[in-house]
Amino acid sequence: MLGGKIMASSVGFIGLGNMGGPMAANLVKAGHKVSGFDLSDAALSALEAAGGSRAGSVAELAADADVIVTMLPAGAHVRKIYQGEGGILDNAKPGTLLIDSSTIDVDSARSVASSAADKNMPMVDAPVSGGVGGAAAGTLTFMVGGPEDAFAAASPYLDIMGKTIVHAGDAGTGQAAKICNNMLLGISMIGVSEAFVLAEKLGLDPQKLFDISSTASGQCWALTSYCPVPGPLPSSPANRDYQPGFAAEMMLKDLKLSQDAAHSSGAATPLGAQAAALYSMFCNSGGEGVDFSGIVKYLRGT
Ligand code: NAD
Repeated sequence: MLGGKIMASSVGFIGLGNMGGPMAANLVKAGHKVSGFDLSDAALSALEAAGGSRAGSVAELAADADVIVTMLPAGAHVRKIYQGEGGILDNAKPGTLLIDSSTIDVDSARSVASSAADKNMPMVDAPVSGGVGGAAAGTLTFMVGGPEDAFAAASPYLDIMGKTIVHAGDAGTGQAAKICNNMLLGISMIGVSEAFVLAEKLGLDPQKLFDISSTASGQCWALTSYCPVPGPLPSSPANRDYQPGFAAEMMLKDLKLSQDAAHSSGAATPLGAQAAALYSMFCNSGGEGVDFSGIVKYLRGT
């Protein structure tokens, strides 16, 4: 089964971790020839088990690929893999389509995109939301930055790995969309949690607060789709002792990226800064692996 109207392609996939592994497997399932590279032998074996093959190096992978997808931890890894010695840009053919789905800083995304343009390689930054479950199910949301022709070329591949594909604008705007959204989510989760903590102190039943605020002006996604206290919304992580979901350390990573971007662009984000500080304290006190809605326990002092 091939997504859209594209032919089977040679896809190189670098970064076969929690997200990249299942995303690469979905490309294999759709009929593409997927060659992978990762520092982890277990990740490479998992790709082989899914029907892909392992490349010996980034250079070998890049030389053979029509399309390269990267799903790496942070900006430094992405710069190294693309711009470093033996990296993608030195070894891929001109015209190779490049898709970076890692969540990284906007400056790194723009730097790598500019180097790719110099080599005549169309590139998009395409960070995702949807988590490991979305990666496995092929239902991720992609926020895409890059030129129109690169977006058009990347879309059939993104369609295989995701359900909602949005072109946000020029290079770097996919990353900008991701960190602006997650800064808003971090702030709103803290706001909702503070409201529940105050309600408890005032003797107001959390279910009553939920019933009232979910249809009143306090309504927001953190309350109605991801309620941080157990009871009102059976699907939320609060009902399974805050197992992630979306881990607090991932939220902290995105909040730090938003603060770096705020500083470098001169934007005033005082609540974003406060949210980053609170999530940092929560993570330092043992909350890193807890779902980000567990911040309510930190605010409660438990
Ligand atoms: P992960 O740590 O599970 O995977 C990263 C992989 O990259 C690892 O397998 C690692 O071995 C590999 N890697 C690191 N450096 C490498 C190098 N130099 N060469 C080759 N491989 C290298 O992380 P993940 O959870 O899959 O996240 C990947 C990206 O997706 C991150 O940027 C993260 O912020 C973003 N993201 C994650 C989630 C999530 O729920 N996990 C959700 C949205 C976005």
